[in-house]
Amino acid sequence: MISRSPSHVWITFCLYLCCYTNGGDAQNAKEVILLDSKAQQTELEWISYPPNGWEEISGLDENYTPIRTYQVCQVMEPNQNNWLRTNWIGKGDAQRIFVELKFTLRDCNSLPGVVGTCKETFNLYYQETDSEVGRSLRENQYVKIDTIAADESFTQGDLGERKMKLNTEVRIIGPLSRRGFYLAFQDVGACIALVSVKVYYKKCWSIIENLATFPDTVTGSEFSSLVEVEGMCVSDAEEEADNSPKMHCSAEGEWLVPIGKCICKAGFHQKGDACEPCGRGFYKSSSQDLQCSRCPAHSFNDREGSWRCDCEDGYYRALSDPPSVACTRPPSAPQNLVYNINQTTVSLEWNPPADTGGRNDVTYRVICRRCSWEPEECVPCGPNVGYSPAQSGLVDTYVTIIDLLAHANYTFEVEAVNGVSDLSRTQRLFAAVSIATGQAAPSQVSEVIKEKVQQRSIQLSWQEPQQPNGVITEYEIKYYEKDQKDRIYSTVRSKSTSATVNNLKPSTAYVFQIRAFTEAGYGTYGPRLEITTKEEATAAIVSSEQNPVIIIAVVAVAGTIILVFMVFGFIIGRRHCGYSKADQEGDEELYFQFKFPGTKTYIDPETYEDPNRAVHQFAKELDASCIKIERVIGAGEFGEVCSGRLKLPGKRDVSVAIKTLKVGYTEKQRRDFLCEASIMGQFDHPNVVHLEGVVTRGKPVMIVIEYMENGSLDAFLRKHDGQFTVIQLVGMLRGIAAGMRYLSDMGYVHRDLAARNILVNSNLVCKVSDFGLSRVIDDDPEAVYTTTGGKIPVRWTAPEAIQYRKFTSASDVWSYGIVMWEVMSYGERPYWDMSNQDVIKAIEEGYRLPAPMDCPPGLHQLMLDCWQKDRAERPKFDQIVGILDKMIRNPNTLKTPVGTCTRPISPLLDQSTPDFTAFRSVGEWLEAIKMERYRDNFTAAGYSSLESVARMSIEDVMSLGITLVGHQKKIMSSIQTMRAQMLHLHGTGVQV
Ligand code: AMP
Repeated sequence: MISRSPSHVWITFCLYLCCYTNGGDAQNAKEVILLDSKAQQTELEWISYPPNGWEEISGLDENYTPIRTYQVCQVMEPNQNNWLRTNWIGKGDAQRIFVELKFTLRDCNSLPGVVGTCKETFNLYYQETDSEVGRSLRENQYVKIDTIAADESFTQGDLGERKMKLNTEVRIIGPLSRRGFYLAFQDVGACIALVSVKVYYKKCWSIIENLATFPDTVTGSEFSSLVEVEGMCVSDAEEEADNSPKMHCSAEGEWLVPIGKCICKAGFHQKGDACEPCGRGFYKSSSQDLQCSRCPAHSFNDREGSWRCDCEDGYYRALSDPPSVACTRPPSAPQNLVYNINQTTVSLEWNPPADTGGRNDVTYRVICRRCSWEPEECVPCGPNVGYSPAQSGLVDTYVTIIDLLAHANYTFEVEAVNGVSDLSRTQRLFAAVSIATGQAAPSQVSEVIKEKVQQRSIQLSWQEPQQPNGVITEYEIKYYEKDQKDRIYSTVRSKSTSATVNNLKPSTAYVFQIRAFTEAGYGTYGPRLEITTKEEATAAIVSSEQNPVIIIAVVAVAGTIILVFMVFGFIIGRRHCGYSKADQEGDEELYFQFKFPGTKTYIDPETYEDPNRAVHQFAKELDASCIKIERVIGAGEFGEVCSGRLKLPGKRDVSVAIKTLKVGYTEKQRRDFLCEASIMGQFDHPNVVHLEGVVTRGKPVMIVIEYMENGSLDAFLRKHDGQFTVIQLVGMLRGIAAGMRYLSDMGYVHRDLAARNILVNSNLVCKVSDFGLSRVIDDDPEAVYTTTGGKIPVRWTAPEAIQYRKFTSASDVWSYGIVMWEVMSYGERPYWDMSNQDVIKAIEEGYRLPAPMDCPPGLHQLMLDCWQKDRAERPKFDQIVGILDKMIRNPNTLKTPVGTCTRPISPLLDQSTPDFTAFRSVGEWLEAIKMERYRDNFTAAGYSSLESVARMSIEDVMSLGITLVGHQKKIMSSIQTMRAQMLHLHGTGVQV
């Protein structure tokens, strides 16, 4: 068939082609085009071989846009092998390439006369190269991709019949390893029009998903491969913890399987694919929160993008408060604080504060301060005080405070606190009470030392308990054989801090426990101390305990030692350091205490040739760096007296008084100054001021003494006139007497015993102080020159010491009687404003100070005993201590009728008190007591007789216009004495 001529076939084919080449599809968003034949309007100029095979033909698509096609239709000829090769195609970053072919293919059946030669397929090949390889075409270099058959071929129909079908076939090649490739089409005798060739690869295009940006990503090389891609958070967003954003780019260029995400940072919230700042007045505290929230109560912000709101003035947020809660403030003070006091235990109770500050975490804390008798001087109570259930963090509205000191002033502040109290800088609000504790038993005696262990005796010594809570009058030592447990025990009592327990069994384990006794009763026993007595000695020594011959020998040797000691003591006694110091000869039988070797005796520092040696023998040299001077508290003769702290290595720091030696001192002044330390350093007694040490190797030279918080006794009593119970006053006197007993036992004569030379600590414990030699008297403002030479504090000094400088422990007892009078009259000046000369004269004439107001008779009696003219008649300090102890134990003996001091008339009083009944007139009486200035007052009020005067009460005296308290007391005391004498002499009562 002619019609089978190729040209005929061709034309027909072309017509159909033009009708069926539609505009093709829009570029797929996931594809990156490498070649699109349709897009090229100029000639493609692909290589075709043999030349009569594939032919480039121009056409128009449906939009009449010119397109380039290749066609071949050698269906009539057998053995066709027509190649068409594209230009070189760079692959870019693709790994898998898509080849989309659009073509039409003529159905062989529709071509008459082509049976056997006509084909209905063609072959697709590719060749990878890194660059163009020229225009020659070698078949064997091509790799076959596929044989392409038409899904639909078309047949020749009538003109206008649209039976021609456009086929689209897509093939994939890859993975590719070179930089580019060629495609080749092999026709083996088909009638084909290659309408378009499109080569592309696929990409996942950049997107924002879950607030993360994923970049353009080329698909993987395998059909099934997914490319994992990390996302980047958009601005003001952050990765969710442990959940970083990822997506997977599929081979089809689709994003699949999103994992993790980004979230908007604190202060920002999500709007679409971005994070926007929170507006003013809003906040977002965490990236986890979804939305911005409005500022909570009492908070604000005036910036955008805030993660929290600031608190208004006076409001706070605790560290643990989340930004979402309202700002709060400290609570107001607790209400209705009440207390209950039981000895040294105080219970406090209160009601919750009216305003909790907007919180529900209110707790309470207690601040305890111990105050000196000056209210403004308060110090924290320190760790020795116990709080039950606790000092702070109290949930309930009560607390008990234990282990307070007895007889002390305390202030307790109860503060309500909540989670923001510590943040607030506003003033603390608290409820407060001031409380004075009562008496309490002493604390434990815990530091016991075994001094000497024998076969049948054990000597113990111990320290006074840390909190004596008063004056310790006695210690009880309880002991028992260890095997007996404490079913059977014995006790021994001691007035000092040492004792020897006798009559023990040899080689036996004993257990000892000690407790202290004060007016408040016994303290608890201290810890058990186990000591085993020594083994039974050998026969010879055992027998020595009983052998009379040996006993005589021992007594003889002891006697010799005693004799030598007495002689030595006598020599020492004569060699006093102060030239003005009186000797004590003649007093030995009275005051010389026989001291066995080992018992401490006072050694006069002046017996040392080198006074420095004396200081270092008795006083510890302190390193000045251990001392911190805090403030000046007084003036001494040699320089300022300061308070401060002493911290010795390995010890607790303690409060101390520091006496300094002023600059520019002479050698004599230095010696006299340190003399006090040499003396004080020899003493160790709870009622004698304790020397901590000296600083002599630096400047200033210092004497460091235990700190006595309440200063000198006279000023202290004047400040607290009438504030103590009689028992408390007697307790103070007992302490002074115990200190003096110790000093006199050591052979030390004070010579200037007066309330001004007694110091008082915070526990009201009185201690004897002001030691020295000649200077003791020199620096005493009370001391005056007497006719016998030397300065003497006349009102405190026994007549024999004034007259012929006979200073002994007996003259100290006289002074002690004056101290008793000072104490019981709260620091009144002895003999008021009488002149020293008048005092000497009055004493000489037998006048004695009357009992102070409200003074128990027994105490005035003791004073009078101390003022016996004959010093041998005066009691010893040991007896004084005994009498006072008895009074403390039987407080009934201290009861006094209010406002009067009736007392039994003693022979002593008769001897020493002026006989008021001998005065003839009120004027004479007033003259005798140096109160004649009030003569007119008495006359004007009608008191013309001594009898009428003897009936006067204190109110009567005051009504006369006598306003000076000292004078009122002096007159009242004299009236009381007069009344007592009248009663005694006439046996008649004077009605008051
Ligand atoms: P004196 O030189 O010992 O008379 O001391 C002068 C003043 O310093 C005394 O009156 C006390 O007020 C004060 N003072 C002396 N020693 C102490 C001390 N140990 N504790 C407290 N105050 C003291």
